[in-house]
Amino acid sequence: MTSLPVLPSNQTAEHGDEGGAQPRKAHLLNLPDDALKDWLSERGYPAFRGKQIRRWLYSGRAESFDSMSDLPAKLRAKLAESFDIFQASEAHVSTSRDGTEKILVRLADGGEVECVLLRDGDRRSICVSSQVGCAMGCVFCASGLDGVDRNLTRGEILEQMLRLQHRLPADERLSHIVMMGMGEPLANLPGVLAALDVARNPDGLGISPRRITISTVGLPPAIDKLAASKIPYNLAVSLHAPNDELRSRLVPVNQKIGIEPVLSAADRYFQSSGRRLTFEYVLLGGINDSESCAHELTRVLRGRTVMMNVIPYNPVEGLPYKTPSKESISRFKQILESSGVNVMFRQRKGDEIDAACGQLRRNRGGKTK
Ligand code: SAH
Repeated sequence: MTSLPVLPSNQTAEHGDEGGAQPRKAHLLNLPDDALKDWLSERGYPAFRGKQIRRWLYSGRAESFDSMSDLPAKLRAKLAESFDIFQASEAHVSTSRDGTEKILVRLADGGEVECVLLRDGDRRSICVSSQVGCAMGCVFCASGLDGVDRNLTRGEILEQMLRLQHRLPADERLSHIVMMGMGEPLANLPGVLAALDVARNPDGLGISPRRITISTVGLPPAIDKLAASKIPYNLAVSLHAPNDELRSRLVPVNQKIGIEPVLSAADRYFQSSGRRLTFEYVLLGGINDSESCAHELTRVLRGRTVMMNVIPYNPVEGLPYKTPSKESISRFKQILESSGVNVMFRQRKGDEIDAACGQLRRNRGGKTK
C-alpha cells in the first residue's frame, strides 16, 4: 500500500551516488560464459579469468568486483565500469519462525517478483520466479490476476538464486531449486534453461538437476522441448482437476490444451528422463475436494508412476476460494492412498509471511502489493 517513487531507468536507488546520469551497465549474470570470455580476450585477459570471476560469483558470494581479490586491480576496475553484479533491489524481506525467508525483489524496471528460501533439516531449498506476472490465469492464484508483463532474463533468475544463497551462513549451500514462484517457467524456456544451466554447472551453483524441479501448468510443446534437452530435471505438472470441465474452469489455459495432451506430454517426459513425475493439485474447499473428484483422479493416474502433491489452498485476498476442512483433506488423501497413489501433502512453510505459493500479484511499476 506504500507508493514508492519510480526511478528513471538510468538510475538505481542503491547506486545513485555512482553518478545517476551514466547509462545503465550490463547485468553480468546475463552474460553467457562465451561472451564473458570474448569480453576478456578483447581486453587482453586470458580465459581463466572468466573461471575466476564465475567462482567469485557462484561460490564466493561476491557482491562487488572489489572483493574479487585474485583479479588484477585494473581488470576489477574495468569490470566495474561495464557491469553490475546485481541489478535488482530487495524491496522487502520477511522471515518466519520456521526459518523460511522471502524476498520481494524489485527489478531494475520496477517490476516485482518474489523468491523464497526454505530450511528443512539439511535441505536448503529455494523457490524462484520466472516471469513478472503470469498469463495462465489460474483462478485461485494471485500471480496471474493481472496477466503477464514479461519474461525474466537469465540474469534476473540467477540473481534471485544468489540473493537467497547469500542469506545462508558460509558453511551452508543451496541444495534444491524449485521453479514455482511467479510465472510459468515453460513460457520462458530460454531464460529458465539458461539460468538452470548455471545452477547445475559445477562451476556455477553445482546443484544436480535431480534436485531441480520445474513446475508447469502443462504446456505440451514446451514439455517436449524440455525432454529434448535431455537434462533430467524433475517435472511437476499442476493438474488441479481430474476432468476437462473442471480443469478448464480452474486453469483457463486448459480450454485450449485439454488434460489428455498434458498427461501424454508428461508421460513422454517420464519416458525420456526416467524421472518420476509429480502432479500438483491445489485443494479448493467445495470445488475440487469431493470424494468423486478423488476417485476420478485415481482413475486418471492409474498406470502412471507419479507423486501426487496435494496443496491445501492458501487464501488470496479478494478471491472467493476456501481452504478445505481437515476432514475433507484427510478423506481426499485416504481415497488416493488406498488406490495406491503416492501422495504428499505439502507442508505449509513460511505461512505467517505468505511465503506459500501463489500469493504475489504482478506489479509493473514500483508499488508494493
Ligand atoms: N506456473 C507454474 C508454476 C508457478 S505456481 C505452475 O502452474 O505450476 C506453483 C504452484 O503453486 C502451482 O501448483 C500452483 O497451482 C500453486 N498455487 C498457486 N496459487 C496457489 C494458492 N493460492 N494456494 C495454493 N497453491 C497455489
